[in-house]
Amino acid sequence: MAKHDIFNEIVVSQQQIVSSVKDIAWKVKKTYANSEKVLAVVMLMGAKWFADDLFRQIDDDEKFQVCYIRANSYQGGTESTGRVTISPDIKENLTGKEILIIDDIYDSGLTLKTVTELFKEKGPADVKTCVFLEKQIEHKEQINVDFVGLNVPDEFIVGYGLDYKQMYRELPFIASIKKDVIHSGELPCLEDVI
Ligand code: 5GP
Ligand code: MG
Repeated sequence: MAKHDIFNEIVVSQQQIVSSVKDIAWKVKKTYANSEKVLAVVMLMGAKWFADDLFRQIDDDEKFQVCYIRANSYQGGTESTGRVTISPDIKENLTGKEILIIDDIYDSGLTLKTVTELFKEKGPADVKTCVFLEKQIEHKEQINVDFVGLNVPDEFIVGYGLDYKQMYRELPFIASIKKDVIHSGELPCLEDVI
């Protein structure tokens, strides 16, 4: 299957990804300039690609301690189930800590809201949020996101960590996927498209 059979258009190019990550890294560094330690919580799987690039760019292992949690509201399809599951549970005492929650995309806002509230219950000094992408929609859950990379249209997109049924995460760009690809049972392999 050729690339043009799968994607409608490239929504974010590789160059845009690189420059946006640099931009967020600079803002995050500036915001936490006077902080001693920041616990960065990355939401698997989608945000891992962005977070890897972000922390490579920030280049401050002493200050930023990175950990991962699994939070999912899509459960493999293309529409939110309205339910967010999180693992592992937060057992640690977070009193006084500065937390930065990182996700790939702010869509309905349900994931970020749920996760942010769970962290706030553990008594940290501060909780900030960072997403690489924000969908241009009226979010069901309005949240104040502290760091946003780029705005994207209201389409189902894949690439740079975002998947459709665990595919296309490795694409170096972000593209919207054609509806008939979503609905057809036959899924092309990554090697067919890149
Ligand atoms: P929310 O809870 O904001 O509705 O959705 C958050 C999660 O849904 C994101 O972390 C992401 O994993 C997934 N998601 C939302 N929109 C898209 C999309 O357009 N494409 C893909 N692949 N995942 C999405
Ligand atoms: Mg996610």
